[in-house]
Amino acid sequence: MYDYLIVGAGLFGAVFAHEAVARGKTCLVIDKRPHIAGNIYTETINGITVHRYGAHIFHTNDKTVWEYVNKFAEFNNYINSPIARYKDELYNLPFNMNTFNKMWGVKTPAEAMAVIEKQRAEAGVTEPKNLEEQALLLVGRDIYEKLIKGYTEKQWGMDCTELPAFIIKRLPLRFIYDNNYFNDRYQGVPVGGYTRIVERLLLGGEVRLNTDYVDFSKKNERIAAKIVCTGSIDEFFGYRYGTLEYRSLRFETHELAEENHQGVAVVNYTERSVPYTRVIEHKHFEFGRRPNTVVTREYPVVWKKGLEPYYPVNNAKNNALYLKYKELADERLDVIFGGRLGRYQYYDMDTVIAKALEAEKSES
Ligand code: FAD
Ligand code: UDP
Repeated sequence: MYDYLIVGAGLFGAVFAHEAVARGKTCLVIDKRPHIAGNIYTETINGITVHRYGAHIFHTNDKTVWEYVNKFAEFNNYINSPIARYKDELYNLPFNMNTFNKMWGVKTPAEAMAVIEKQRAEAGVTEPKNLEEQALLLVGRDIYEKLIKGYTEKQWGMDCTELPAFIIKRLPLRFIYDNNYFNDRYQGVPVGGYTRIVERLLLGGEVRLNTDYVDFSKKNERIAAKIVCTGSIDEFFGYRYGTLEYRSLRFETHELAEENHQGVAVVNYTERSVPYTRVIEHKHFEFGRRPNTVVTREYPVVWKKGLEPYYPVNNAKNNALYLKYKELADERLDVIFGGRLGRYQYYDMDTVIAKALEAEKSES
């Protein structure tokens, strides 16, 4: 009998396991995938670190989390500065003076604010009730139409009027010439990739891959005193109240015999008619200089059981359903739910680490 059965060898499960082992506890970590690290898994293809499940840039304002993660890897000084491509027009992201200059020819913050203010007034939104209204209020109609609407509707498979406003609040808006996608104090990509971080975190815990909790639990009912569930909360409860909705992705990766394909790590395709949302050129995350390159196209797809649930769809309907599962979860004192799927929340890596540390600490 173990102290903890940890379902999911992703970031949450690995941090929890590491801390529990350090406290003298025994952990069995299972994952249904054939590898550790969950969605932050990276692998090497001909000398290039490839982010198998989409671009991952570590960024945080939390010094404790930054110091913690730096114990397990050395981070480079990569700063994410993606390009948005709308038809043949290229714009800097996030929305900043470079974007406004290209969009309207304005040169000063006051000129940019005046254009946005005019478009805001025309849209007539004061209390945004959905993503479209939030975007119009934030940046006006031109940017919404060219850089947000198409991308967002592809990404989420829904009209912007049906989506919650908070999704777009993730993006900074600045009236300075600064293309850093994030506002956080600390940022970088681990040298050698993320998998090594998780490998190091899991030292001392026992790991079984290709092991699905649903089958495993039938044969191993009393294997641990407590369960840490980082898989989907609705799956854990046998979909008793119905299925929470997720958004899935399909990644198409190619190695190319050229040195520099797109000149930047991330290009967002914001037009509705292009079926993919992003093209990632992995070598630029590590300032690579090899003669070859690896690129990945990211296609949003409708999620159904059996596909990877990448993004929780936190609209009113799903949040209400989640709360019903949360009530069941609160009654299960033998189970800790954590991570993006266990909490049905759009968490970045730094939040996942902070929450895992908190969850483990509250055990002692
Ligand atoms: P996961 O990594 O999903 O781990 C959960 C694990 O549980 C998985 O390995 C899964 O196989 C396993 N599992 C599920 N169900 C079962 C079961 N029934 N039995 C056994 N195992 C099971 N964050 C950032 O900070 N910066 C970024 O740039 C960034 N980019 C992202 C890009 C994309 C495309 C996506 C999807 C996410 C991105 N994130 C980013 C978020 C980041 O991936 C997550 O915060 C983090 O990976 C979540 O860790 P987790 O352990 O909660 O979940
Ligand atoms: N977004 C957009 N245009 C872009 C990039 C992002 O409209 O070029 C919107 C989109 O709705 C997306 C949200 O902003 O879901 C958050 O973007 P982020 O890059 O943080 O998404 P993630 O990396 O988590 O997929």
